[in-house]
Amino acid sequence: MDDAFRFADELGPAKIVHVHEPGIGLRGTLVVDNVATGPAIGGLRMAPDVDTQECFRLARAMTLKNAAAGLPHGGGKSILVGDPRMPAERKERLVRAMACALADCRDYIFGPDMGTDETCMAWVKAEIGRAVGLPRELGGIPLDELGATGFGLAHAAEVAARHAGFPLAGARVAVQGFGAVGLHAARFLAARGALLVAASDSQGAIHAPEGLDVEALAAEKRAGRSVAEHPKGRRIEGDDLVDVECEIWVPAARPDVIREDNAARLRARLLVSGANIPTTDAAEEMLQRRGVLSVPDFIANAGGVICAAMEYHGATQTAAFQAIEERIRANTEEVLADAKRRGVLPRRAAVDLAVSRVRRAMGWRRWSIF
Ligand code: NAD
Repeated sequence: MDDAFRFADELGPAKIVHVHEPGIGLRGTLVVDNVATGPAIGGLRMAPDVDTQECFRLARAMTLKNAAAGLPHGGGKSILVGDPRMPAERKERLVRAMACALADCRDYIFGPDMGTDETCMAWVKAEIGRAVGLPRELGGIPLDELGATGFGLAHAAEVAARHAGFPLAGARVAVQGFGAVGLHAARFLAARGALLVAASDSQGAIHAPEGLDVEALAAEKRAGRSVAEHPKGRRIEGDDLVDVECEIWVPAARPDVIREDNAARLRARLLVSGANIPTTDAAEEMLQRRGVLSVPDFIANAGGVICAAMEYHGATQTAAFQAIEERIRANTEEVLADAKRRGVLPRRAAVDLAVSRVRRAMGWRRWSIF
């Protein structure tokens, strides 16, 4: 098979576009994976070491996430090669050039991702008119400031806790990665009666079995300090967060943090994924065998993209949050019930749910467009 089709399978990718403008140092790739449900929405990731394979995997993840969330959008992703901390002027030139180079790819709507933010999306919008995750002044709903993903995650946790056989009220929670997702997840879980007992960031972790004050930890972060510097509780190594006794463990930082070599240490009854691909396949199977229920990432962390899609369609903040609550609760329920009925991993049930929606939409497409 031609190398250009090495990622091809029954769903996509529909299109891979490489852009290269040596004159200004622009190098980037767009993967539009599947557009059966509508134009693709997915982030623009800027990093020095991104490649086409990563772009394809991320685009496929968006196809599944958007389909599972019932959005009228397919999956795509774009990558821009470069250090996101480069001088602002250079970054602006590159992001604007990337947008212009992809102006004709009308089946892709830009969103923010690692290395890009709402200002970048404002530049893209100004160039080609197609971006979500915009500043408020351009009709944006600031999803990280409001905690859209953490809000959805708390709802997924509430539904899943019932499946795991314990109430959310009084449940002990450990959060790995006290950033936009982790902090708000802790905040919304605490508002529903859960008790945050441990939290970490890239500089360390803090553990207090009697409970931590989420707002006090948020204040540490606002002041530019690590959660580990919080005076209450015991400072522990970041890696030891996995040993903390709790009911709910929330990965909200990096991929592959629960692996075969540490899955047996997890002392929680429920894992609700805020981060993308935080567990390896083998670890998920180990957790299942130990009776630890796991809510897959693209079900639990869809709050951000639901918010972004609602923004694109002109919805209010209130309507966006209602949609997040409704869809994530319904999907979590459906996926966990189906997994139990079939005796499979929740991830298998979630992938099947998303793929069946994409397949149905593919069957309705008109192809006679030429
Ligand atoms: P963020 O940068 O705001 O926060 C990440 C946090 O993780 C920071 O506090 C950082 O210090 C911490 N961290 C980094 N490395 C760590 C480590 N090794 N151990 C412990 N903590 C560590 O990012 P975010 O927007 O909160 O995203 C977190 C994860 O969730 C990412 O995987 C992202 O792809 C995923 N995600 C985010 C959204 C969203 O709406 N922001 C939506 C879906 C998925």
